[in-house]
Amino acid sequence: MESSPSFTPPTQKIPVAVLGATGIVGQRLLTLLDDHPWFRVSGIAASERNVGARYGDAVRWRIETPPPAWALDLPLHAPTPERMSAASVIFSALPADEAYALEPAFAQAGAFVSSNASAFRMAPDVPLIVPEINPDHLEALTAQRRSREWPGALITNPNCSTIGLTLALAPLTRFGLRRVLVTTMQAASGAGYPGVASLDLLDNAIPYIGGEEEKIENETRKILGGWRYGAFVPLTPQTLRLSATCARIPTRDGHLEAVSVELAERPTADEIIAAWRDFRSEPQQLGLPTAPTQPVVYRAEVDRPQPILDRLAGKGMAVTVGRLRPCHVLDFKFLCLSHNTIRGAAGAALLNAELAYAHGLIAQPK
Ligand code: NAP
Repeated sequence: MESSPSFTPPTQKIPVAVLGATGIVGQRLLTLLDDHPWFRVSGIAASERNVGARYGDAVRWRIETPPPAWALDLPLHAPTPERMSAASVIFSALPADEAYALEPAFAQAGAFVSSNASAFRMAPDVPLIVPEINPDHLEALTAQRRSREWPGALITNPNCSTIGLTLALAPLTRFGLRRVLVTTMQAASGAGYPGVASLDLLDNAIPYIGGEEEKIENETRKILGGWRYGAFVPLTPQTLRLSATCARIPTRDGHLEAVSVELAERPTADEIIAAWRDFRSEPQQLGLPTAPTQPVVYRAEVDRPQPILDRLAGKGMAVTVGRLRPCHVLDFKFLCLSHNTIRGAAGAALLNAELAYAHGLIAQPK
């Protein structure tokens, strides 16, 4: 691994804004930003129907811990650069269509946008970052700023099921990852609020999540690919054969994924477990505030990982893997679990912004 950049933490907190602050991901963002050592919330936004309302009156709070007290009296604004001009960093938890329409204006106005939405994830000049895997993809921002003439920038984090999967797969790439079959069991909160109607989901499983399988396949190849000679070089379907099946199940938080892998170098199970347990990367070396100390946790018990027991591993930022065993079709199979609204969304956007700061891409307040 290349050496990590050296950096000095901000001496004053950097003002940030949250778009989509009333949604499930927005609520997580405000929770994670409570007492954040580098960032302070200077503005929040929601849809037109809530503009002008006090946050405490507008939000239907759905997180297990109470909302930060400072957030309750904040006014909700329209998500425009003019209304959020105090913020240097914009955390976007907007639906994809709104993100597509609104996020570029913030980068155009000079802000650093860290987005959860799918709108720009696959754009040829937009980094799709998992800080433990592809921090070098931030280099694309030079080309982005040049081609789009933005004084600011836009980066994205992956789809919630892709993050858990790629964190489990990244330590295995050293063994020559050839083929992956994944079947997801995704929590209700992954569909936002109110999401899937309770009568559709209770006592049930829905074997279809629109666009999710394509997102897992395409985003994984971009993340595990490179940034070379001014362009992303995703893994090709020939280099990494990947097939995803996605289902929604009636758990609240935490996406569970059953994975089979083919590995060219035929490692032993112990070598795979060691690769997961020893996996550390740039966010850990830099000591970024939201980085888990151990990004991949292996549980040896026969009945783990489980959503209610394991989703908060590493404060919700670690992926838990377990049940590693031989696969009689590919080489090995296992399960992985990650918290979809923390590691899979709000925590991912926050860690991405911390990484960007450490790379000198976000300025200290004057
Ligand atoms: P959500 O619960 O439906 O929240 C959507 C938020 O966007 C709300 O704050 C809503 O405000 C606001 N909004 C809706 N339409 C708007 C408009 N026209 N203009 C301005 N604001 C608008 O959704 P979510 O689950 O938090 O997801 C947010 C984004 O993160 C989506 O792009 C989603 O795909 C992505 N994501 C979600 C997860 C997850 O696990 N949930 C994981 C990864 C990525 P109002 O309350 O005023 O309507």
